[in-house]
Amino acid sequence: MNKDQDLDKKQRKFATDLIHFGGEIDKATGASSVPIYQASTFHHESLANPPQHDYSRSGNPTRQALEDYIAKLEGGVRGFAFASGMAAISTSLMLLSAGDHIIVTEDVYGGTYRLLTSILSRMNIETTFVDMTDFAQVQAALKPNTKAVFLETPSNPTLKITDIKLIADWAKSHDLLTLLDNTFMTPYHQRPIELGIDIVLHSATKFLGGHSDVLAGLAVTANENLGRRLKILQNGMGTVLGVQDSWLLIRGMKTLKARMEYSETSAMKLAQWLAEQPSIAKVYYPGLPGHPGRDIHERQSLGYGAVVSFDVGSGERAKQVLDKVKLPLVAVSLGAVESILSYPAMMSHAAMPREVRHQRGIADGLLRYSVGLEDIEDLIDDLKQALSG
Ligand SMILES: *Cc1c(COP(=O)(O)O)cnc(C)c1O
Repeated sequence: MNKDQDLDKKQRKFATDLIHFGGEIDKATGASSVPIYQASTFHHESLANPPQHDYSRSGNPTRQALEDYIAKLEGGVRGFAFASGMAAISTSLMLLSAGDHIIVTEDVYGGTYRLLTSILSRMNIETTFVDMTDFAQVQAALKPNTKAVFLETPSNPTLKITDIKLIADWAKSHDLLTLLDNTFMTPYHQRPIELGIDIVLHSATKFLGGHSDVLAGLAVTANENLGRRLKILQNGMGTVLGVQDSWLLIRGMKTLKARMEYSETSAMKLAQWLAEQPSIAKVYYPGLPGHPGRDIHERQSLGYGAVVSFDVGSGERAKQVLDKVKLPLVAVSLGAVESILSYPAMMSHAAMPREVRHQRGIADGLLRYSVGLEDIEDLIDDLKQALSG
């Protein structure tokens, strides 16, 4: 999309970094992949000279390789690997204290919504949800006890676009911590730290892992001070990723560019096809002309991603499509080699009260299609038959 030469160069370097990330050759043996250090603890040869890692909750070489890998890809200072995306998000939000207030994008991931409204609320951490595409709403939400802003762009599942730099600059001027859930774009397309964000978060279960076979979360801090604080939380809460899963994630991430590029080309075709169907009430994809916030998205991201949402008009019709499709997995989740069709109203956003859900544009007929690596003509033919009748 962006033919700017610097950006081209950046993408080229990124593709090379994906493969040559520093841990691709084992320093001790020359092995062609990071060894799995399946160990919970490490021997102290002498007490005067302790080993680099002493206990795997606090640090493990396999997990460390993954943490350094994601930090490099995001252009941050320190990376952290967690047992799930929610473990990454919840642990990072422990940077807040009782009495603090956080401003959060209103169509945030359903699990994050649940964490904020039913768990952190009990810890006296207060949340205001705003439409973050409307800067006036963000400014109006500021209170004397506001400490942080949580962004997600494109948002899930209506792919609303928030101006990252605008919000990050404003937050900085009020001494607020900024966190951004970068799951949908991945660092291949969007590097929020370069735009002023303090902590980037991932459900690595999705595009980074890419194969629907590992549950994991990642976080990257923009500076050493935040890195130190998050390290204390990761170790203190014990929300770490296990070593086998760390290895699987590294394996999946190496093909991130190849997978994203292919899926994205297909997603664009699917979005264009859907937009031509008179029976589809609405199509949400940042790559479509007329998508609100498309200009902002193109300024801050290098691509549009592989998730397309569309409204088939009613809950009955959505259920019919889910019943009749033959190729995609009908499931919660996204970002895998296989296409995944999900029904936000009854799956990812089931925890959200119906009125709140409607207010946020998540209609009863809304479906979310995560385009995988199948042949796009087959996927469209399959969807065509599922929509008919
Ligand atoms: C899936 C997801 C999460 C939660 O991640 P888990 O790995 O399922 O815990 C958070 N944010 C977004 C945008 C997601 O899609």
